[in-house]
Amino acid sequence: QAKANGKAQAVEFKGDMHTEAYTRLVLEKELRKAVDNNNLSLAYQPIISLSDQQVVGFEALLRWNCPEHGWIPPDKFIPIAEETGLIQPIGAWVLTEACAQLKRWNNAGLPRHKPVRMNVNVSRRQLDNPAFPDTVRQIIETHAIDPDTLELEVTESVIMGQQERILDALKNLRGLGIKLAMDDFGTGYSSLSCLHEYPFDVLKIDRSFTMVMQEKRQISAVIQAIVSLAHTLDIEVVAEGIETDGQLAALQALECDLGQGFYVARPMTHEQAFDFLRNFNGFESLKASA
Ligand code: C2E
Ligand code: MG
Ligand code: MG
Ligand code: MG
Repeated sequence: QAKANGKAQAVEFKGDMHTEAYTRLVLEKELRKAVDNNNLSLAYQPIISLSDQQVVGFEALLRWNCPEHGWIPPDKFIPIAEETGLIQPIGAWVLTEACAQLKRWNNAGLPRHKPVRMNVNVSRRQLDNPAFPDTVRQIIETHAIDPDTLELEVTESVIMGQQERILDALKNLRGLGIKLAMDDFGTGYSSLSCLHEYPFDVLKIDRSFTMVMQEKRQISAVIQAIVSLAHTLDIEVVAEGIETDGQLAALQALECDLGQGFYVARPMTHEQAFDFLRNFNGFESLKASA
């Protein structure tokens, strides 16, 4: 149970399973089983408003506890899922599960709380599927989700190359009333000047920026420029990977809107997430419990 909480542990392969190709083959086979046997789960990481210190929502993060090899991190199995097309059924399951959870939280009638948002990561292969926007529409209808409480995260690299088809998919999704976030911003090559060409509501600054912002004045200046341009374009900014109170304070000073990171909370089970939602009492309380 403890392992389900944080980032999945590294997998160790024994014996003759040393070639990368073989490992992939084994994982692919196991991943197919996981899809059939419902062996995947979601962890939820809180996203907090840096100004008013409220929980605005959660990012749903896929977890796989493989009966043979233990917890396997998404960075290891998502690429395999993408190459094999397994990301289609997996992605649909993630969306369905996350929406069902979102509905439960928003039906729980929490006092003094705006509706919670749910962020779901989406792969390029999903966007490439012309049926995807309709799949999303069906899921939000089935679960009676208020569309603007659902936010799909697409990495910056997905929109690179300005593919017409991807842009159309994004526009169709936004037409449903859901929100779109550009994930891992700063790791690709799209420039700030292209931001307005895409229908994004939210921009997530990659963890690699947050990590060094206090040591590198230039990086902090870059973040400041990103925040300022994003706000001009009516785009909300989230900082990923906040690990210290210093980073938190620096991001608040730069008027970054939202944040997530281990300093505030690690990805957790839905029960823990619900407790967090009910009990989070501002950043001061993190210091007290640290
Ligand atoms: P991401 O979407 O950028 O998600 C954030 C990742 O950073 C998560 O890793 C999270 O656990 C980690 N993280 C959050 N705060 C901190 C921090 O303060 N420090 C550090 N060191 N890490 C932090 P995770 O869960 O291992 O996921 C990795 C990536 O796998 C995600 O990056 C996302 O690209 C992909 N992924 C996860 N779930 C899904 C999914 O359901 N579908 C798709 N297509 N991709 C997914
Ligand atoms: Mg993400
Ligand atoms: Mg990210
Ligand atoms: Mg990432």
